[in-house]
Amino acid sequence: MADYRIAVIAGDGIGPEVMDEALKVLCEAEQEEGFSLEVQAFPWNSEYYLEHGRMMPEDGLDTLQTFDAILFGAIGDARVPDEVTIWELIMPIRKGFRQYVNFRPVKSLPGIPSPLANGEDIDFVIFRENAEGEYSDSGGRLYAGQEGEIAIQNTIMTRTGVERITRAACRYAEEHGLGKVTSATKSNAVIHANKLWDEHVRRIVEEEFGGLQFEQYYVDALAAYFVQRPQSFDVVLASNLFGDILSDLGSGLVGGLGLSPSGNINPEKDYPSMFEPVHGSAPDIAGQGIANPIAQIWSAALMLEHLGEKRAAGRIVKAIEDVLAEGKVKTRDIGGTATTREMGSAIGEAFKNQT
Ligand code: ATP
Ligand code: MG
Repeated sequence: MADYRIAVIAGDGIGPEVMDEALKVLCEAEQEEGFSLEVQAFPWNSEYYLEHGRMMPEDGLDTLQTFDAILFGAIGDARVPDEVTIWELIMPIRKGFRQYVNFRPVKSLPGIPSPLANGEDIDFVIFRENAEGEYSDSGGRLYAGQEGEIAIQNTIMTRTGVERITRAACRYAEEHGLGKVTSATKSNAVIHANKLWDEHVRRIVEEEFGGLQFEQYYVDALAAYFVQRPQSFDVVLASNLFGDILSDLGSGLVGGLGLSPSGNINPEKDYPSMFEPVHGSAPDIAGQGIANPIAQIWSAALMLEHLGEKRAAGRIVKAIEDVLAEGKVKTRDIGGTATTREMGSAIGEAFKNQT
């Protein structure tokens, strides 16, 4: 029997609330699908920072490295600057474990209206480059406080970085029977970094993935196509910044933050990958037990898929769809009154009741 060690970082705000429900559903999956999960929780959140002056212990990454995967909730607290939570916890994990793929499915769910009139049957995935690009700490400020103050922010794109994210996206397309890969940049304006991206993406697709259809757009045009014809995409490939923006646009097309999962994936599996909802700690609703746990539960399903438990993963997504299709249990963000727990339990029940 497969046995997986899972590190859980529930985090701040609604993180622990939605994490409880994901763990509940994982327990059901474990019992029915014949694998076992050894779960260890780590209290590395803003409270921990206020007490210890750091987001995680010095050997935090060494500890996490011994796990098969990390399930992450959300981090963010008004008392701790965002730079700290991001650069001392999330970024070290992403970069240290070479999680260079940020994977986000964009999929219509039953009973969840899209804000688009043509918003039915949307189903594509975004591969966002997660380790380099525009989100770098290279740069600085000059002449601070003076009239001539300037800031320099460097974008770093490497041939290796572009090649590996392209291969990951194309392999996913092939493995899942998806015909088309769409790449987005702004290489008419960002002429150094984005031209390098365009050239090497195209080369890798042509040399190694001849069976796939390939298209390249400027990201501004692609944003419009997301709205005009979202059904025409299979796998969308974009750099760190553009992928981030396109992902939230995608999430908006199919029902919002409470429903959007993501994976920070190390495709080589030489380090653990990390799975987390797209949403943050939602301080405005924390502590009320009303957050939607679907994004977290779905993230747990992505984790199982990555670990190779594809049937269990598929069953969890199906359970989410069944509950939404029935329409009886809905949290407030999707127009209902159910609590976080009621939603988690309904999905657990739907999982068990599948034939
Ligand atoms: P962060 O900086 O941590 O990303 P944020 O304020 O930018 O925080 P979120 O924490 O994701 O973003 O919250 C944005 C809005 O979406 C808030 O109004 C929040 O209540 C709502 N929201 C986020 N996640 C959920 C959820 N799971 N269920 C219901 N509402 C949610
Ligand atoms: Mg946010």
